[in-house]
Amino acid sequence: MERNTRQRSAIRDAIAQAERPLLPQEVLDAAQQVVPGLGIATVYRNLKVLVEEGELQAVNLPGENPRFELMGHQHHHHFQCRQCERVFDVHACPGDLSGLAPQGFTVEDHDLTLYGRCKDCGPPAPQTPQTEASKQPKTDPRTPGHPHRHGD
Ligand SMILES: [Zn+2]
Ligand SMILES: [Zn+2]
Repeated sequence: MERNTRQRSAIRDAIAQAERPLLPQEVLDAAQQVVPGLGIATVYRNLKVLVEEGELQAVNLPGENPRFELMGHQHHHHFQCRQCERVFDVHACPGDLSGLAPQGFTVEDHDLTLYGRCKDCGPPAPQTPQTEASKQPKTDPRTPGHPHRHGD
């Protein structure tokens, strides 16, 4: 019990201190500073429990593994850096977007993700413009393919 509590609070603290949504692997890297020998399976198990207990919520970006952030902060949005792939909170909102929906439709919620480069990665160097060909789509070998509907 004692050990479990310590693991769980290390996992929760890792996310609280990051102040941005973390992948399970990022949670593991941070929590291992506090609980050496922590394994990824334990991280996954505790993330699930913390979500069930309403401590954490999952952040699901299209085509990405779920990240986890603290529950209960206000409506906000996210920014993903295309260079380092980290996700950050955006504490701004364009507000009421109901004007974008077709006439007669009712907007109940929105989800917005900005993409670009974070402060650490900086703007792209102007001397070396990226060509479309040099932008290799990154695939994560650890991610099993999503069950896509093909041509139905
Ligand atoms: Zn970055
Ligand atoms: Zn918003």
